[in-house]
Amino acid sequence: MTIAAIDEAVCNGCGICVKHCPIDVIRLDRERKKAVIAYREDCMLCGQCLDCPEDAVRLEPGWGRAYLLGWG
Ligand code: SF4
Ligand code: SF4
Repeated sequence: MTIAAIDEAVCNGCGICVKHCPIDVIRLDRERKKAVIAYREDCMLCGQCLDCPEDAVRLEPGWGRAYLLGWG
């Protein structure tokens, strides 16, 4: 299971998810000012990208912040 999607319709290109991801799964497309999933298979579901201020990041169904807090 991995990060599922980034909603480009609401992503503002702030780069917070890129900075918070510890293993470089997400990259910033600087021309389009959108976050993109670059290495989906490396995602370890840490949930740090859920700090997105626009709520644009979706993890696999069932892997939300409440679940991750309970896990950690
Ligand atoms: S934190 Fe959210 S709004 Fe900012 S670049 Fe990432 S997905 Fe886009
Ligand atoms: S869940 Fe963690 S490892 Fe996966 S994309 Fe988000 S910040 Fe990166």
